[in-house]
Amino acid sequence: MRPPSGPPPGGGPPHRFGPDAAGGATRMDMRLLRRALEFVRPYRRQLGTVYLFYFLNSVLNLIPAASLAWYMDGVVRGGAFSFFGRVFDLGPSLPDVRAKLIWSAGYFAAVLLLIAGANAIGVFMWRLGTRVCQRIMLDVKHRVNEHLHELPVSYFDAERTGAIMTRAVGDTDQMEQMLRDSYVLLYASTHLVTVPLIMIGLSPALFVCALLPVPVIWAAVRRVRTHLRPIYREMREQQSLIGATIQENIAGIREIKAFEREPAARRTYLRTNLAQARLVHKAMRVFSLNHQILYGTRDLAMLLIGVGGGALVVLGRGHVTLGTVLAFIPLMGRFFDPIHQLVGFYDVIQRGLAATQRVFEFLDLPPEVPEDPGARTVKFARGEVRFEHVTFGYKPDRPVLCDVSFVAPAGAKIAIVGSTGSGKTTLVSLLPRFYEPQSGRILIDGEPIRDVRLESLRQAIGIVFQETFLFHGTVAQNIAFARRQLDPERIRDAARFASIDAFIESLPDRYESQVGERGVKLSGGQRQRLSIARMILKDPRIVILDEATSSVDAETERAIQESFEKLMEGRTAFIIAHRLSTIRHADLILVLEDGRIAESGNHEDLLARNGRYAELVASAKF
Ligand code: ADP
Repeated sequence: MRPPSGPPPGGGPPHRFGPDAAGGATRMDMRLLRRALEFVRPYRRQLGTVYLFYFLNSVLNLIPAASLAWYMDGVVRGGAFSFFGRVFDLGPSLPDVRAKLIWSAGYFAAVLLLIAGANAIGVFMWRLGTRVCQRIMLDVKHRVNEHLHELPVSYFDAERTGAIMTRAVGDTDQMEQMLRDSYVLLYASTHLVTVPLIMIGLSPALFVCALLPVPVIWAAVRRVRTHLRPIYREMREQQSLIGATIQENIAGIREIKAFEREPAARRTYLRTNLAQARLVHKAMRVFSLNHQILYGTRDLAMLLIGVGGGALVVLGRGHVTLGTVLAFIPLMGRFFDPIHQLVGFYDVIQRGLAATQRVFEFLDLPPEVPEDPGARTVKFARGEVRFEHVTFGYKPDRPVLCDVSFVAPAGAKIAIVGSTGSGKTTLVSLLPRFYEPQSGRILIDGEPIRDVRLESLRQAIGIVFQETFLFHGTVAQNIAFARRQLDPERIRDAARFASIDAFIESLPDRYESQVGERGVKLSGGQRQRLSIARMILKDPRIVILDEATSSVDAETERAIQESFEKLMEGRTAFIIAHRLSTIRHADLILVLEDGRIAESGNHEDLLARNGRYAELVASAKF
């Protein structure tokens, strides 16, 4: 029985063409392998068992073919049979036809049992092998996923979603493929040792005949592979392009429709797919050539064995008998299959190693703001926020915030105003440490936030984004997002608080209604209110509110405003404010201009100053 996960002779099926065959890694990187083995180590016992069964299965599988010579020469012909020069003569035990038939039946039964045994082992080893592979890969995927969540926000600013997805899914899948195929490697290498041994035992002369086409196969296949490699690479690039196109078409579907760009989007998609189809076609041409070479040479080898062996039998040379020739034919198949598999495996291992390297590169990315070993868990009781000479730029040489200093007293409402791009969002992003200031420091209740554990810092801060992301799940799950336990009563209270309970009650499944991936079934205002309900359950000391810039009807605006007001009660609140009604009630207004605080104070003071704030109010542009 062939291992179920093994590639068909001649390499992999077309769907494996996608990934880059070489990825630049043409040599085996031992360090990489050693590191990869760390994932395997905890399962070495189970892997050992799997390999043992693979070996057993491979040996048992050979016996029927190898014993055919013995059966034909010894039993059928009733003559002598030689193995490694030792002659076994069954003649005396087989006096008549009846005895021969009894031996034949016995041989048949024994081989049948053997085949059944080999298959039973095959099923077991396949199951166990798959389970071990899956366990190892679950560990890898778990590590990748954990790391994904440890990465700083800046990583997600710089990387495209598609690229991150490729890391998290595509590369680990490649690793899994390599791991699964490593069983094939073992199976094939076992056969590469045992089959020639049996062949030599039966007839060294015929074995030499069998070897003749091997160099031709090897050379031809390597040549074909060399042609395939650049095609693989191109296909991988094309595939990521297709992925990116689909992703953008989905994410930007509203823009595409609004600007009537469907035909262009369709054309782009079609073009990338056509290019991919052309590549698959090209690869298939090379692949089918490869296939023909492999099978052609195999048939040729069989012919060589048949005719060459027949000639040796006629000439009476090399101790070749008809039984030996008959046994050689199935053995040839078992000799050539592993050669084909090994050639295919070479690519799989290269692709697997390239993917492994990418996975390790990903795991080596420095995690989010490395936590100070001495970082403490702090429960912030008041929520006073102090910025001291904070300077920050997404690129260190291009500061977005310059020397920002202010104090937000505990429980105060701070409105941040300024034109678009002045740095309002950036300023509040520093508070939960999404980014690290290049200089200066931020303190909450007198504690520099760098010295506080990220978990306790983020527990103290709640953010209501302008665009609330709703996760796939029920309304209740989305409200309880910040809390692990789902207490329906508390969820309902939170919804009531955010004035969204009436709307939820009107939904067909109420709190159990599913919301789409991006909450498309909810309006912007409803999403913001849902987000406020989330905040209430989280109950942070400090809230950050990003007021929607888009205009909503007066009633909705009032409702949201009321929910905001209630949410801010007793908490320190930062509002990226766009409405004068919000701003004029703030305890402190920070007017940002090109990353600097141009003015600060309350509404009346700032108006009286007749500066930048007065200008903004007059133009009603925040
Ligand atoms: P505001 O909220 O006042 O509109 P932002 O804080 O969003 O301003 O942006 C301030 C500046 O920082 C802008 O010039 C913007 O282009 C830049 N910026 C914002 N976010 C990023 C980011 N993730 N990476 C690089 N630059 C950014």
